[in-house]
Amino acid sequence: MPETPLMDLLDFNRLLDDEERLIQDTVRAFVQKKVRPYIGDWYERGVSPHELASDLGGLGLLGMHLTGYGCAGTSAVAYGLSCLELEAGDSGLRSFVSVQGSLSMFSIWKYGSEQQKREWLPRLAAGEAIGCFGLTEPDFGSNPAGMRTRAVRDGGDWLIDGSKMWITNGSIADVATVWARTEDGIRGFLIPTGTPGFTARDVHHKLSLRASTTSELILDSVRLPADAILPEAKGLSAPLGCLDEARYGIVWGAVGAARDCLEETLAYAGTRVQFDRPIAGFQLTQAKFADCALELYKGFLLALHLGRLKDVGHVTSTQISVGKLNNVREAIDIARTCRTVLGGSGITLEYPVLRHASNLESVLTYEGTSEIHQLVIGQTLTGISAYR
Ligand SMILES: Cc1cc2nc3c(=O)[nH]c(=O)nc-3n(C[C@H](O)[C@H](O)[C@H](O)COP(=O)(O)OP(=O)(O)OC[C@H]3O[C@@H](n4cnc5c(N)ncnc54)[C@H](O)[C@@H]3O)c2cc1C
Repeated sequence: MPETPLMDLLDFNRLLDDEERLIQDTVRAFVQKKVRPYIGDWYERGVSPHELASDLGGLGLLGMHLTGYGCAGTSAVAYGLSCLELEAGDSGLRSFVSVQGSLSMFSIWKYGSEQQKREWLPRLAAGEAIGCFGLTEPDFGSNPAGMRTRAVRDGGDWLIDGSKMWITNGSIADVATVWARTEDGIRGFLIPTGTPGFTARDVHHKLSLRASTTSELILDSVRLPADAILPEAKGLSAPLGCLDEARYGIVWGAVGAARDCLEETLAYAGTRVQFDRPIAGFQLTQAKFADCALELYKGFLLALHLGRLKDVGHVTSTQISVGKLNNVREAIDIARTCRTVLGGSGITLEYPVLRHASNLESVLTYEGTSEIHQLVIGQTLTGISAYR
């Protein structure tokens, strides 16, 4: 599949190797066939794309940058390019893949015991099981350190009580990675969702990320065996390490949503006639397109730079914050600008633009709000933490 003309302008293909191009093209073709024809309807009905889990697993997209246990073991750049193409379809689809691979699977892969890895990773990689990741609580979002969910020893078992809020894939998950306070600080637990005392309740009436399941998890004296704890996850740095993984995918995904907005809008503007000429011929419209394209290209280069750093093991949390803050913020701007070019048509689901814009409002908030990423960058620049 050729590079899209929009991205072709800067000949980005030259920055990618053959395998990266092949993976990107494969994911783009998958989204074209299995997502684009249906996504407007899923979005309107609030249906999550988890029925595609086995297709996504078959393509090796679940936990694709992890190694062993049935995972594809691709480069970080290849994973990023996949996120870009998935989010060009819909942020809900990319969120599903991010939560499965970068939060659920990564937490097990990085911090789990050999037995936990063998039990869950191959099934999660194949899309035969679904995972979720519960860190946020109703009263603790930006400040997860305050969490109230508690795990206490009861004989040889653990007993967990508390609740988690805004959990992607919560009610469709087979296994939940749940973070809880213990007498040894914050620890992670793997909870099979059929365990008595575990309930998931979906959040309804969402105006954003509608093609994604978002749930509240209620943990009412959930009894777990001693080996349910993730042995290597000690302290808040463990879940924050998982968030870095998922944020990295967002850096790329936001570029995909923005690209889709701009491509669709360019096509529309070429055929929509006002004052006897295509609206693409007006200077004001072209100025909008030029400015959107600049931000898109810069966002792509930033994502690629972070990907190359990650592939050589040198990417830092602050660098990922730079990428998330910039690329999501600019993607929303691009989506909103494109919406103006579509005029009235831009407010319907016939075009993807307002759907992307609305999705990006969630993406701006989850995995660290823009304000929190500004504070992370500010702390690195000044040496002073403004928030803890
Ligand atoms: C659709 C969706 C899916 C999600 N999926 C998951 C998931 O799978 N797992 C999970 O654990 N969580 C998930 N989340 C939760 C998400 O990570 C939180 O919503 C996010 O961290 C913000 O927390 P909050 O909503 O409680 O907002 P708050 O923390 O209450 O923030 C409200 C506002 O205050 C600002 N603010 C807070 N502290 C400061 C400060 N010190 N200085 C300046 N401004 C500040 C914030 O930036 C924001 O603008 C999801 C959220 C959404 C919307």
